[in-house]
Amino acid sequence: MSRPKIGRAAAAALVTSAALTGCMPWDSDDEDKVVSAAAKAKAAAAQKAAALKAKRDRAAKAKANELGQIPVLMYHRVIEKPSNTDDRTPKQFRTELERLAKEGYVPITAAEYVTGNIGIPEGRHPVVITFDDASPSQLTLDGTGAPAPDTAVAILQEVAKRHPGFRPVATFFVTRDMFGKSTPEEQTQMLTWLHDNGFDIGNHTYAHVNLLGRSKKEVNAEIVRGHRLITKLISSAPVTLALPYGNQPSTKTWGLKGRSGDVSYNYGGVFLAGYTPAPSPFVKDFDAVGIPRIRAMDKKGDCAKFCSTAWLDWLKQNPGERFTSDGDAKTVAYPKFKAPFMVKRFTDRAVAY
Ligand SMILES: [Zn+2]
Repeated sequence: MSRPKIGRAAAAALVTSAALTGCMPWDSDDEDKVVSAAAKAKAAAAQKAAALKAKRDRAAKAKANELGQIPVLMYHRVIEKPSNTDDRTPKQFRTELERLAKEGYVPITAAEYVTGNIGIPEGRHPVVITFDDASPSQLTLDGTGAPAPDTAVAILQEVAKRHPGFRPVATFFVTRDMFGKSTPEEQTQMLTWLHDNGFDIGNHTYAHVNLLGRSKKEVNAEIVRGHRLITKLISSAPVTLALPYGNQPSTKTWGLKGRSGDVSYNYGGVFLAGYTPAPSPFVKDFDAVGIPRIRAMDKKGDCAKFCSTAWLDWLKQNPGERFTSDGDAKTVAYPKFKAPFMVKRFTDRAVAY
């Protein structure tokens, strides 16, 4: 009786299956099974190779670079008469969103960014839109629960309607100011509306306290106060923190993880207030304790190089440095020669072309 050569794993599987079915190993039925198992394994390997090749081809066609940089834009108030350089007018905000849409950007939330869950179409670039300080100019709802005209949320929805595929999502780093609402019921309405409409809510501390030079206990307490402000109003907990004034505590990890009383936090990322695009979450440069953001501002004064207009110009002129999606959120696709920059734990998702 000739026996086909089988590997140890296949033999073990065969014995197990024989034991389960109660028949003796090595009868002719089993030989057939071995042959077909080997054929199946070969076919499966060929299928896997073909699938990977298809992914590589798709990534190459999209010029995917999921190790590239992502602009995280920082907005404050959106008001008709700006009183400081952080404010934008509705017109300026609309113009910037129109630019993003025309240049192939698709908004993702801060939570999606820090967790590497970037599900946008192939060839598109993620942008994270963030709002600090919970101003009513960002969100005000009318009596029916519709965003008031010229609020940031209304403008974002309006631009998304004009540009199919441009997701109307953003992250709100809130404080006790809570969009100008003072009662818990009204505050719950605001956060629930944001959550139900796909927006992301992050912690910006309760009282917008400067954490620089504070003790560990104080830092933990301030962050927990902000965390609880949110979780007391809605059931979903924040995933990210934006540091007030962009100032890091003396030990940077205190912003990321901590405990005060019976409440603890363990964030996916802590955001700063300047001055460069952020690294891909899949590269070694990504540092969850201090993620850079870009101030939304024209190329003037301090902003000649380090604010949104300047950086969007730079990313446009340097497409090889920008994050471009392959259209598959489960893979991390990139040109092969960029491989040394990738974080090892994402290796099983890699599609290098
Ligand atoms: Zn702030």
